[in-house]
Amino acid sequence: VRRHRVVIVGGGSAGVGVAARLRRAGVEDIALVEPSGTHWYQPLWTLVGGGQAPLAGSRRPQASVVPRGVRWIRRAATAVDPDARTVALEDGGQLAYDYLVLAAGLQLDWDAVPGLAEAVGRDRVSSNYAAAHAPRTWELIRELRSGTAVFTQPATPVKCGGAPQKIMYLAADHWRRRGVLAAIRVVFVLPESELFRVSPYREILERVASRYGVEVRFRSEMTAVDGDRRTLTVTDHPHGTTEDLPYDLLHAVPPQSAPDWIKAGPLADPASPQGFVAADRHTLRHPVYDNVFALGDIAHLPTSKTGAAVRAQAPVVAANLVAVMNGRSPHRRYDGYTSCPLVTARDRMLLAEFDYELRPRPSFPLIDTFKERRDMWVFKRYVLPPLYWHGMLTGRL
Ligand code: FAD
Repeated sequence: VRRHRVVIVGGGSAGVGVAARLRRAGVEDIALVEPSGTHWYQPLWTLVGGGQAPLAGSRRPQASVVPRGVRWIRRAATAVDPDARTVALEDGGQLAYDYLVLAAGLQLDWDAVPGLAEAVGRDRVSSNYAAAHAPRTWELIRELRSGTAVFTQPATPVKCGGAPQKIMYLAADHWRRRGVLAAIRVVFVLPESELFRVSPYREILERVASRYGVEVRFRSEMTAVDGDRRTLTVTDHPHGTTEDLPYDLLHAVPPQSAPDWIKAGPLADPASPQGFVAADRHTLRHPVYDNVFALGDIAHLPTSKTGAAVRAQAPVVAANLVAVMNGRSPHRRYDGYTSCPLVTARDRMLLAEFDYELRPRPSFPLIDTFKERRDMWVFKRYVLPPLYWHGMLTGRL
C-alpha cells in the first residue's frame, strides 16, 4: 500500500484547485485520484445547449490541468476507510494517506425518474447536465416552431441551482427573435414555491419569466417520462395529484446525490438525505475525522453547489489543511459565498451572488449587478472560461 502525505479524490474544479494551492504552499507528496482523461468546465454547458458556445470549449485533457509535482492516479476511488486512513481503488489497489480531501463531485441519478434514462438524448428529450447531450439541446430548440416545451428541476439539490431555468430563457429568447414564441407553450416544472430563494434576484427573474410568458408550475416535479408517447408525468406537491403533460421538447434535469460509494460510507453526513459528505460549514473539515476535508458538490453545505462556491472554498481548504499539518487549528472560514450567473436572454445576464444567510454579496462594487446586463453576459461567455483555466485551476485566483 503506497502512502501519501495528501490524497485528493476527484480532479474536477475543486480537486485540481486545491492541489494547485497546496503545491503553491510548498506541500509535497500529493496524489490526485481521478479516473477521467478529460477535464470539463461545466458552466459552459448552458451556453452549449443555448447554441452560444461549442462543446469543445468546455474540455481539456486532464493531463494538462494536473499541477506539476502532483501524482495523478488514473483510477476511480470506491471506498474510504477513515480509521485505517486508506482509499480503495477500482482495480483493487489501495492508497494510504495522512490527510484526505474529498472532491469527487456529485452523481446524476437518471434512473430515479422512471423512463428518463431511456428517453434522454433520444427523440425530443435533452439535458445540459451531460456533455454528451448538451449540443442536442440546441438542435431541439432550433427545430421547434410550435407546441409545448417543458423544462424541469428535480426536488434534490442540484449543481448550479439556476441552470434548469437559464436554458429556458435562452430558448425563449431565441423563439421570440424568430417570431414563434407565441406558438410555443413554455412550462417550467420546479419543486420550490418561488423561482429563486434570494431577493432581489427573485423579483427580477419573475419579471423575466413573465416577459417570455412562461407557465411556472411551482411545488411540482417530473415523476415519470414516456419518451415514446412524448409525455411526462408531473406530480404536484403537497396534494400528490398527477397530470400527464405532452411535450414537443423536454429539457430534463436529473435528481442528484452523493456518489453511491460515499452515501454508503462512514464520511456521509447522516443529516443529508442525499448522503453528501459531512463538513464544518466554515472550516470545511469533517466533524469526526480531523484529517479529512470536503469541498465542492460532494460536501453537505447549506449553500448552492457551484463552481463559484468552489472558487471560494478551495483557498479555505488549502489554508486549513496546511494549518492542521503544522499542528495549528483551522483558521480560514468559508461564509457560504456562491454565485449563479443567470443568463436571462441571448445577450443578457443577471449575476446572483449570496452567502449562507442568503444575503446578496455583489463582487463588482462599481456596477449595479441587481439587473440584467449585457456586460455580464460577455463576462460569462468570454472572461470566465479563461479565468477558470488559467486562474482558478492554477490556484492563482
Ligand atoms: P466536478 O467539477 O464535477 O468534479 C468532480 C470530479 O470527480 C470529476 O472530474 C470526476 O471525474 C471525479 N470523480 C467522480 N467519481 C470519482 C471517483 N469515484 N474517484 C475519483 N474521482 C471521481 N457553476 C458555476 O459556478 N456557474 C455556472 O454558471 C454553472 N453552470 C452549470 C451548468 C451546468 C449545466 C452544470 C452541470 C453545472 C454548472 N455549474 C456552474 C456547477 C459547477 O460545474 C460545479 O459546481 C463544479 O464543477 C463543482 O466542482 P467539483 O470539483 O465539486 O465537481
